[in-house]
Order: sequence, then C-alpha cells, then structure tokens
Amino acid sequence: MKFGEFELSIVRECTFKLDGGAMFGVVPKTLWSKLSPADEQNRVEMHCNLLLIETPNAKVLVETGMGDRWTPKEAERYGLKSLTTPAKMLESVGVSNEEIDFVIISHLHFDHVGGATMLKDGKLTPTFPNAKYIVQKGEWEFAYKANARAKASYRFEDFEPLQESGVLQLVDGNYEVTPGVEVRVTGGHTSHHQVVYFESGSEKGVYFADIMPTKSHVSPPWVMGYDHYPLASCDMKNEWLTKASAENWLVVFDHELGTPWGRVRLVDGKKFEFEALPVETLEPKRKTAVV
Ligand SMILES: [Zn+2]
Repeated sequence: MKFGEFELSIVRECTFKLDGGAMFGVVPKTLWSKLSPADEQNRVEMHCNLLLIETPNAKVLVETGMGDRWTPKEAERYGLKSLTTPAKMLESVGVSNEEIDFVIISHLHFDHVGGATMLKDGKLTPTFPNAKYIVQKGEWEFAYKANARAKASYRFEDFEPLQESGVLQLVDGNYEVTPGVEVRVTGGHTSHHQVVYFESGSEKGVYFADIMPTKSHVSPPWVMGYDHYPLASCDMKNEWLTKASAENWLVVFDHELGTPWGRVRLVDGKKFEFEALPVETLEPKRKTAVV
C-alpha cells in the first residue's frame, strides 16, 4: 500500500494461540469472548503480522514472528501454524532477506524475535544477514535478569546469535532508524517496549506492537495480563490513541486476526473506535512469479 513516498506491506508469518484470560487481563471473559472467541482450551487465535516499510532510503522490517524452531509439543501448546519460513519470510511481497537494511524488534519475547535467526548449516545465523537489528538496550538487559514471572517469554537462542554475528544495534530511548521511521519507547508491556512511528508526506502511522496487539485491545483499560506494567500500558494507549485519532494516523496491530491496519476515531469525546482499511490494501504490490 502506498503511504506518502513509502510502500507498506503486511507479512503474515504465522497464526498462534494464547490463553484468552492472559490476553485480556482483568476484563471478564463474558466481555472479551464476544470479540475474540475462545477454543476448547480457552485460547484465542491471533496472527503475527510483520510490517515491511520501504522508504526511498531503506527497507525496514518490523518484527520477525515466531520463526520455525519449535518442537511439535511446543507448536501444539501454542496452536502454532507457520505461514512461511524464515528463509522465505518476505517471498509473498517479492523482497529477499538480503535486501533488508533494518529489523526493528519491539521487545524480545519469542513471538517477536523467534524469526530473527534461523538454522543454516547447523548454526544459528541472522535471518536478515545485511540488516542492523534495532533493540532497546534496556530490553536486552532485562531479558538477562528477568524474574520467574517474566523469563518464560525469553529464549536466548532467539537473540544471542544477533550479538555474536555483529548485527545487533542496541539503542537507548527514542531513535530515528532512517528518515521517517522512528522507534519510541512506551514501556507497559515490558519496561522498555518500543513502538514504531513512521511518517511520509502528509501521512503518519504507528505500529503498536504489544501495547495494543489486536483491535479488541483499542479501549485503553483492555490491557493484557502479560503486561509487566498494566497501568502504564493503559496511560500510554490513551496518549497514543488521542494523537492517532486527532491526526487520522494509520494504526497497525501486530496480532490482529482480521485486517490489521486502519484508522481510529474518538467517538463522543470518550470512546476510541477502530475502522479497518479495505482488505484489498493487503494485496502485495508485486508478487513473486509462480514457477
Ligand atoms: Zn506478542
């Protein structure tokens, strides 16, 4: 989809499932299950939606999904269905892994950084060999000192090879990755969780990552039980949604099952409503030739 001078594409890396109660925190199931129906194990289905931002200067990939290094038992637990492999991650949008200049990782949980590395000749190597991987320094440090509640979401083999192979770029706070694409620290989900703000021409947009994973999370108090700082998430959501609705930004959700991008409106001065863009906007600009 055209966005000012940028080209934006969504890459659906996988579908997976997580416990519905954990996805909606203190919101009662009688409310959330109307929007996100649960399966027989109380899990709700989601996507990993990666965002490719092609600017006149650089190709930026936001997030890498779950990847393919999962045992059958783990895949079963997460209801994981891969829709691509790391080696062919961007094939659906006609871009090769080698072409990516920057990979932005919102935080180091396995459903965001799982595809950052892949096995090649028996060794874990960066999936995007020519890219700099942008990670918050505070998030990196936290991953190594996460306590018992937090550490189940971090797998060191997902991100240690990035440092070993010299592609890791740790940034400390808000940072311009390339003209028109910035990471902004929000905290909330984790202490140094970052979102991606992008603008070109008169267009502005934000990839919310896990501070607002699906359209069902648009209401500021609907924050995840997974969040380390849920009250901060609530405040941050309100702040970002206020700006996004006032200036008609494009908003992008990382785990939405339906069309994951659209606009938000403030209705009657108190309630935010999401309206998805037409599904055709997800059609890639150029598809790879079918052989
Ligand atoms: Zn996530």
